[in-house]
Amino acid sequence: MIDTHNNSFLSQINLIPWWKKIYKTVYKNINIIYSKDYDSYFDIGAYFDTGKFRKIVRELSKEHLFTFREMIHPTEVDDKSILSVHTEEYFEWIKMPLNLREVLASSQISELDTDAFQTFRYVAGGSCLGLKLAYTTKKATFNLSGGYHHALPDKGYGFCPINDIAIAVKNLKKNFGVKNVLIVDLDYHQGNGTKEIFFKDSSTFTLSIHANEWDSRAGVANMDIEIPTTINDDNYLMILMDSLHYIDHIFIPEVIVYVAGSDPFVKDELCDMSLTEEGLLRRDIMVYNFAKKRDIPILILPAGGYGRESWKIYYNFIKWVLFNG
Ligand SMILES: [Zn+2]
Repeated sequence: MIDTHNNSFLSQINLIPWWKKIYKTVYKNINIIYSKDYDSYFDIGAYFDTGKFRKIVRELSKEHLFTFREMIHPTEVDDKSILSVHTEEYFEWIKMPLNLREVLASSQISELDTDAFQTFRYVAGGSCLGLKLAYTTKKATFNLSGGYHHALPDKGYGFCPINDIAIAVKNLKKNFGVKNVLIVDLDYHQGNGTKEIFFKDSSTFTLSIHANEWDSRAGVANMDIEIPTTINDDNYLMILMDSLHYIDHIFIPEVIVYVAGSDPFVKDELCDMSLTEEGLLRRDIMVYNFAKKRDIPILILPAGGYGRESWKIYYNFIKWVLFNG
C-alpha cells in the first residue's frame, strides 16, 4: 500500500527546485557544527559507522548545500566543564586508553593511544558551542556528533565515555543564566545517564521514548516511555505527539536539546525496531515544529545509529530543516 501522506516529507527533500538550491548557497537558516576530530581512527563497537559524520559533510558539500568552510568548527571542551558533570576520579580513569577502549567496546585502541580521548573532548566542545549558538542565534543547530546519553557522573556505559548533553546544558545554564531546559531523547536506548545527572533537578526535564530501558526510577522532572520494538510509524508518532503535548502543559523550556538517535530505523544493523526512513523524518519534523511553534531554540544531536545507512536519517533531517524550517 502506498501512503501518499508518508511520501510527502521525503519528496520535499528529494525534489528541490534549482532556484531554491541557489538561494541556499547564499542564505543559511541553520548552524552546523563539525570537526575533523569527530572522525575517530579507531572503531566504536562492532556496528557503529565511524565515517558517518564525514559522509554527511561530503553529501552536503556534493549537493552544494553546505560546505565544510561554512560549518562551525569547535574547540575541545575544557576540564572544568567535564568536571561539572563527572567525578574527578572517573575523569582520570576514562582518559586512560585501555579504560576508554572498554567503554567503547573498541578492538583498536591500544595503551599507546593516549590521544584517543581527544575525539570526545571535541564532540563535547561541539555540543557546548552548538547549544550556545542555538540559544544566541535562534537558528536550529546541528552538531554532527554527540548525544552520548548513557554516561553517568562516575561511569561510562554503552559507547558513551562522557555525557556531552549534560555538559552542554550545565555550560549554558552557567554562562547564560538559562533555567529551564527540555531534553527530548528518541534514541532506541533510554537516556539513562542524562536522567541520572538531572535526577533531582526540576529545571531540566528529560523525556526519553525508547525500546530499551536501563533504569525505571522516576526523576523529579522526567518522563520515560518504553515502547515495543514492533511499533509502527503512526503509533510511534502518536505517542511522541501525546508526550510533547503533556510536557507542554507542565513545563516551559527556554531551550530544547533533541537527541535524535537513528537506531529505531528498520535498517539499523544493531537494533531491531522498524521505523521507516519516512517515519523517522516525520518524527524529527514533529520535534522541530514543536520547538519552532513555541519559538524555543533547539540543538539537535545524532546519538546512536548503526550500520551503513544510518547517516542518511540525520542527513535527511538537516536537509529538510535547511529548506523547510
Ligand atoms: Zn541507541
